[in-house]
Amino acid sequence: MAEPVKLQFNAPKKGMPPKHFADLNHEERVAALAELGLPKFRADQIARHYYTRFEGDPLNMTDLPEGVRAKIKDALFPELMKPIRSQNTDDGETQKTLWQLHDGTMLESVLMRYPGRATLCISSQAGCGMNCPFCATGQGGLDRNLSVGEMIEQVRHAAATMEAEGGRLSNIVFMGMGEPLANYKRVVNVVRQITNPGPRGFGISQRGVTVSTVGLAPMIKMLADEDLSVRLAVSLHTPDDEFRNTLVPVNNRWPVSEVLDAARYYAKKSGRRVSIEYALIRDKNDQLWRADLLGKILHKYLGPKVHVNLIPLNPTPGSEWDASPKERQDEFVARVIAQGVPCTVRNTKGSEIAAACGQLAAEEEEQTSA
Ligand code: SAH
Repeated sequence: MAEPVKLQFNAPKKGMPPKHFADLNHEERVAALAELGLPKFRADQIARHYYTRFEGDPLNMTDLPEGVRAKIKDALFPELMKPIRSQNTDDGETQKTLWQLHDGTMLESVLMRYPGRATLCISSQAGCGMNCPFCATGQGGLDRNLSVGEMIEQVRHAAATMEAEGGRLSNIVFMGMGEPLANYKRVVNVVRQITNPGPRGFGISQRGVTVSTVGLAPMIKMLADEDLSVRLAVSLHTPDDEFRNTLVPVNNRWPVSEVLDAARYYAKKSGRRVSIEYALIRDKNDQLWRADLLGKILHKYLGPKVHVNLIPLNPTPGSEWDASPKERQDEFVARVIAQGVPCTVRNTKGSEIAAACGQLAAEEEEQTSA
């Protein structure tokens, strides 16, 4: 008998933060403001500050009556996260921020600036319950789901940072800590708030948003039915069930065929190409027969609606696994392409500061007194 797989789908409820403006829909905002004696129009007025000027503190919303600003702050704008530390790399283009949440939980987000665009990698859970052995986040288990407000605040802070630099936050990827589809309802709510036009959303294009998943097949289908045209990324990492059962343990529940079937449904509904993520690990999943098999099955399930993103494995603490040699990586890419499937190598950012894919662990460094 195989060992039972340790997966955590249900996050503990304890530790969820106090209600924030971003957790509420328009009607709930109107009701909450009515309790403070404020008329309906204030809801969109505050939303305009929040989503279009990235202002999170009602005390600075100077077109609100002075006497109510503090009341609004107390009731609807609790401080959800404090920046603990920011680190830069890639000549200042990549910035990782460690945040402390109200209950002491830590999370990380990564802002990457490219010519003409800026991408924020956000976390959807504190920790992760999916237990993939090559990913640092998976090693610590799942602390809890993030609230809608905690995800939206990551976006707002980054949008404010970009605006202060004279730029604009254009892309959001759910590729930080956590499995977004295990926090499904909140993540869909957040995607809508990211893409809705102002004043009730940040107005970022749906094409600029990517949701990445280990492959929770039923949730992929549900997401397809939301009629959002965000990009779906599936972390496949190997085309065969036997090894995937170890590499991505949730495969024991939803095998490759079911994941790709759901991905095909997503591609059909959204009209968009699905990204397949493949962390290339030396002597583990980098054999050329796997490249051939990968190309074949992706072609079979998804035809032209697929693209493979190869990610050279980033090292994680305590793991002996490492990236494949460059020659093997090149051969692997060529073999996938030979099957008619586009394949590119992801330009990894942030690995020097443990901000790259799979390296987010949100641990505060030990303070040394030396
Ligand atoms: N849980 C979701 C969202 C996280 S995305 C998912 O797995 O898709 C983070 C991406 O980085 C995933 O594709 C993940 O498999 C990949 N990854 C994890 N650890 C990695 C590592 N050590 N090196 C390179 N990529 C890694």
